[in-house]
Amino acid sequence: MPTNELRKLRQHHNATIGLFVAFWIFTPTAIVVIEFFDVSQRTRDALIGTIFGAAIVLSLLQFSKRCPYCRANLGWQARLGIPGHCRKCGSILREGK
Ligand SMILES: [Zn+2]
Repeated sequence: MPTNELRKLRQHHNATIGLFVAFWIFTPTAIVVIEFFDVSQRTRDALIGTIFGAAIVLSLLQFSKRCPYCRANLGWQARLGIPGHCRKCGSILREGK
């Protein structure tokens, strides 16, 4: 198995979790700003647009990866990111877990 592909899976996993954390920091902040500060309609639309945009990117990241061994979709196998091993073929996808 090419270690290159496993490294990409791990990077993908970290990127998904990183974006997820950023999303959950940004979203409440944006809501507080919209609710309690006198922001313009344009700023409001931009903040809401960013929240939806990030949610879409996050879904794409989560469901875009397939198992390099059996091509099973990995997005459904973990709540977030890449599972430690493929549930379909049992291959180890992330070391140390
Ligand atoms: Zn598999």
